[in-house]
Amino acid sequence: MGKILQIACCLVVFSAFIACDKDEVDNKIPYVRVDFRFYPYTTDSELASYGGIKMFSRQGYNGNGVFVCQFSMTDEPLFMAFDATCPLEQDTGFKTAVRIDEGSVLKLKCPKCGTVFDLKNEGRGGGTRLTRYGIRPLGYKIYYQVYS
Ligand SMILES: [Zn+2]
Repeated sequence: MGKILQIACCLVVFSAFIACDKDEVDNKIPYVRVDFRFYPYTTDSELASYGGIKMFSRQGYNGNGVFVCQFSMTDEPLFMAFDATCPLEQDTGFKTAVRIDEGSVLKLKCPKCGTVFDLKNEGRGGGTRLTRYGIRPLGYKIYYQVYS
């Protein structure tokens, strides 16, 4: 009986720990269909090396744009895509797009509320995170598809 109590106590402590860790609020930006391609070795050469970032306009929620960035420091590229819509602008219909935070690596800043989102940390910022889209290689990795 003592053993069971001990395990139960551990579970309570453990779940409290998980609860504390989850201080993030889900982003309320509605789903939109996203489907476009990028070519990191030709047209979109900004994305050919680590820290590269490019905004694709007229994509994502409300056409606010989608940012694609490059993370990998090895030969195998690692890309991530984030919607430019600031998730903290719900009151005004999510019309505000974040911009590149000049002087910092892979961070985006909202011109309205000033929140900085760290793309190296899965787009987290302001107690939430940017909408993230999937990326898959196509055509023997000559180009990539961004999709929702
Ligand atoms: Zn904002």
